[in-house]
Parts: sequence; C-alpha cells; structure tokens
Amino acid sequence: MRKNIGFKLRSTVNAIVLATVLATVVIISFVAYQNEKKSLFRLTFQLNEVYADKIAETTNFIFKHMMNGLAITGESVSEDLTRSDLKDQLVRFQEGSSFYNSVFIVDKEGTLIVASNLPSAVGSKLASAGATQALREQRELVSEPYVSTVTNKLIVMVSAPLHDASGNYIGFIGGSIRLHETNIFQTVLGSVPNESDGSYAYVVSSKGVLLYHPDSGRIGEKVTENPVVSSVVSGLSGSKRIVNTRGVDMLASYAPIGSAGWGIVAQTPAESVLESAKRLIMSIMLYMLPALMLFVVVITILVRKLSEPLVKLTEFASLLSPTNSGADELPKIHGLNYEANELHKAFGRAVRHFRYQFDSLSQEAQTDPLTGLFNRRTMDKFIGSWIASGNPFSLLVMDLDHFKSVNDTYGHDVGDEVLKFLATSLRQLLKENNVICRFGGEEFIVLVPDELFDPAMEAAERIRKYMSETNGPTGGIVTLSIGAAHYPDSARSAEQLFRVADEALYRAKHQGRNRVEIAHAANDLAATN
Ligand code: GH3
Ligand code: MG
Ligand code: MG
Repeated sequence: MRKNIGFKLRSTVNAIVLATVLATVVIISFVAYQNEKKSLFRLTFQLNEVYADKIAETTNFIFKHMMNGLAITGESVSEDLTRSDLKDQLVRFQEGSSFYNSVFIVDKEGTLIVASNLPSAVGSKLASAGATQALREQRELVSEPYVSTVTNKLIVMVSAPLHDASGNYIGFIGGSIRLHETNIFQTVLGSVPNESDGSYAYVVSSKGVLLYHPDSGRIGEKVTENPVVSSVVSGLSGSKRIVNTRGVDMLASYAPIGSAGWGIVAQTPAESVLESAKRLIMSIMLYMLPALMLFVVVITILVRKLSEPLVKLTEFASLLSPTNSGADELPKIHGLNYEANELHKAFGRAVRHFRYQFDSLSQEAQTDPLTGLFNRRTMDKFIGSWIASGNPFSLLVMDLDHFKSVNDTYGHDVGDEVLKFLATSLRQLLKENNVICRFGGEEFIVLVPDELFDPAMEAAERIRKYMSETNGPTGGIVTLSIGAAHYPDSARSAEQLFRVADEALYRAKHQGRNRVEIAHAANDLAATN
C-alpha cells in the first residue's frame, strides 16, 4: 500500500497558529524587555546622577564651612598661642561643629602645641602625611587619608594655616576625622534613594582611596582600576555601566567634590534593574496568557469547523475504490467555507457520474443486451459460488426447436423477437430466486436453487408446456427442448453438470423435441466424490 504523505490541514493550521502565537509572545516580550531595560537603565542613571551631584554639592558646602570654621577659630587664637584657655576654645569649637574627632594646633616646626583631646601627645612632633602636607603647602586643605601617628587610626585632616599679626606663617589649625568611626560622610551618605535594589554610594580621595563605603572594611582600599574612579578623581561627572573591582556589573553615576579633589560614586547593580525588567515581562505575559489561550482555543474550534467538510469529504473519498462506487451517501456538510462548499458540490457531481458509469458498466458486464437476462459469465459466477458453498441446485439447459427455420422463414429480426418472447415468458413463469440466463444464441439456462429436483422438473415442464401452447412473435408456436440435471445428485462439478445436462438435451432433441429429459448421473461421479 502506498504510504500517506502530507500533513493534515487541521494539524497544520493549528501548528501555524500556535507557532504564530508563540512567536508573537516571544517578540513582544523581547521588545518590551529591551524597552523596559533601556528606560530602567536611564531612570537608574538619572536617580544616581542627581544623588551624586546633590551629595557632592552638599559635601563641598560642608568642607568649605569646615575650613571656614577652622580659619576663623585659628585667626582668633593665633595672636597668642600661649594663652591658658586655648584648649577650652578648641574643645568648644570641636563640640560645636561636631565634624571632628579632634581639633588641634601645630606650630610651623610641626610640634603639637594644643589639642582638644589626646593630652599625652601634646609637645610631640608630628611626622604624619597630613601634617607634613599642611606645613609644606601652608593653605586650607583636606588631606589624603593617612594613619594618624598619634591615634594609629585612619583619618583625614582638614586644616587652615595660622599667621601672626604681621602675616608670618606660624603653623596650622587642624581637625581630624576618623574614617572608621561615625562621621560626616555616614550622616550625609547614609541613605541612598533606592537602597532596596542594592544601590549604594561611596567616596574616594583624589588618589582613589576609599574614604567612605557602606562596607566599612573596605575603607582605605585603593580602587583606581575602576574606570569610574579614575574619571571622577580627574574632576569629571557622568554615568557609566561598568564592572567594578569586585566583578559586579554596575550602573554608576559620579560627581567630583571640588574643594577636596575627592569624588562620589552612586551605583546600582545592573542585575537588580534587569531583574525588575524581567518581573515586568513576566507579569505582562501572565496578563496576556489567558487572552492568548482563549485565542488559541477559539482558533482551534474555528479551524475544526472550517476543516470539517474537507475532513468528511476526505474520509468519504478514501472509501472509494474500483469495487466500491460509494455505496454510502455523500456526507452532508454545512460549511462556512466557500471553497469547501464548492468542492462538496463538485465532488457530489463527480460521485454521481462515477456511480452511473459504474452501474451501467456492471449492468453491461453482467447481462445480455438483447434480452436483459444474465449472461454466461454471471451464471458461471453463481454456479461457482453455490458449488463452493455447497448449496444444492438444478440446472435446466434449453434450446429452441428448429430455430434456424424460424430465422429462415420470418427473418432474423423476428427470430430476435422470439428470443425476447422466451425471456419474458421465463421471467413470468419462474420464481424470483431462479437465475435465468441467455447462454448464447438461442440456448437459455435456468438455475433453480433447491435440495430437491422436483421444483426444477416442475418449472421445466411449465416452460415447455407454455411454449408449446402459446403463439409467439411468429404468430405461431415455437417449442423448445430441455435437459435437466441436479447438483450434487447428477454431478459433483460444474463441468460434469453441464456435460450431463447437455447429454439430456441431446436426448430430448433426438427423441422428437418439445421434451424435458433428465440427466443420468455422471458415470465418473464416484471418482470425483
Ligand atoms: P434444433 O431443433 O436441433 O436446435 O434445430 P435448430 O435449427 O434450432 O438448430 P441450432 O440450435 O443448431 O440452430 C441455432 C440457430 O439459431 C442458428 C442461428 O441462426 C440462430 N441464432 C443463434 N443466435 C441467434 C440470434 O441471436 N438471433 C437470431 N435471430 N437467431 C440466432
Ligand atoms: Mg442451438
Ligand atoms: Mg435450436
């Protein structure tokens, strides 16, 4: 059998719909995700930028204020560095400003003259980086972070120079901020606007050392390889997506703190922004899902409805074969689809035409055109199937008497009329279940299905009698002779049966015609048995 090829219409359309829906979902999700990512990145950068700028501005302002405060205090005490309430003044200033862990005065040789606290260090010479820088540069400044030689703590120092009445440099007044303790940076930077998504800010010195970081363990660490840090310490501000020194993908905004040469960086992990974009896409999909499912279901039903006529026609067509002209009725369809309806109509026409041809062909193949009786081939089939299934029957072989002379006397056409007359008579005289056939020429055969011979003998006699008493197309009588045999009594095969029936007919002719003769049982009957 040939293998069926091709995809079914229904499955194909359903697959296409499903693929289209999936592709739509993927494309929409992808575009929405990209858009959302872009706008979230922009928003994050904006937030961080505004925050970094604001904090830088505030810190700048505070530094100026701090240096100003130191300068004013320094000016008020510089006339007499030996006065007894000098320390009290420094303590009041320290407590009043609340920026410093310690406020102190150093002379131009670097000796600590007085300090608001740490009395043990007074009188010692300071060799720390901050003190050295302040003495060298003799200006208001904020130092690089360094480890204090007095407290051994990481500090930055804010300082202002001191001058005597005639304007000579006599040392500086400084304030120290311990970086690992609660300080001004924590107060200012303590809360970033979007902490929940992992955002945070940090401060670096002009040399790229961390001055403030929410992870206090990192304070003092040098982070110059971070591209944002190198930008901000060179005085630039802006936003960048970078991978930080810890390998984390960050959306960072940065602004310089001009007065100190420091920089502030506010940043958000890109992952958390992408995460919220993903959450949005998931919720969009979740909203879309029921509608899409409904859409798929509706399309599936519609496809089923539309393809139903075609499926029915296909099923019907697949049953058609050379031996089946479509005994079943063409299925009724109520299609919504124009093409399917047209196809159905055309199919109906084709099947009717096919059936008509099939029927007339099989009619032609089975019957004799002159009389409409079964032909020899059909009769052979009956006999074959009856013998095969062991059904008993009788065979009557008939031949018109002196038919040649009928033709000669009345013409061939009247001869044909006589043949038709005999056919009509046989139909009238015989039972429904008898098989009547024109065997050839003017020989006819009748099959009488019965276990007994008697019904066949009665039928034969009835025919003979009728023909011998009834005027036919010639205007007179045309008689016939009959040889009768029974299966299985007279013979055990079709061949034997015909032979013995023919012999009986021959005897009937020989004994004067217009007679019925019964066949002798075949003498080779036993052999076949
Ligand atoms: P018998 O009594 O011995 O049978 O004599 P018969 O003249 O009938 O001899 P036979 O059966 O041998 O002759 C058959 C004749 O039937 C020969 C032929 O002309 C005629 N015949 C055969 N077929 C047809 C037919 O289809 N139409 C007509 N009109 N005549 C036919
Ligand atoms: Mg004959
Ligand atoms: Mg004859």
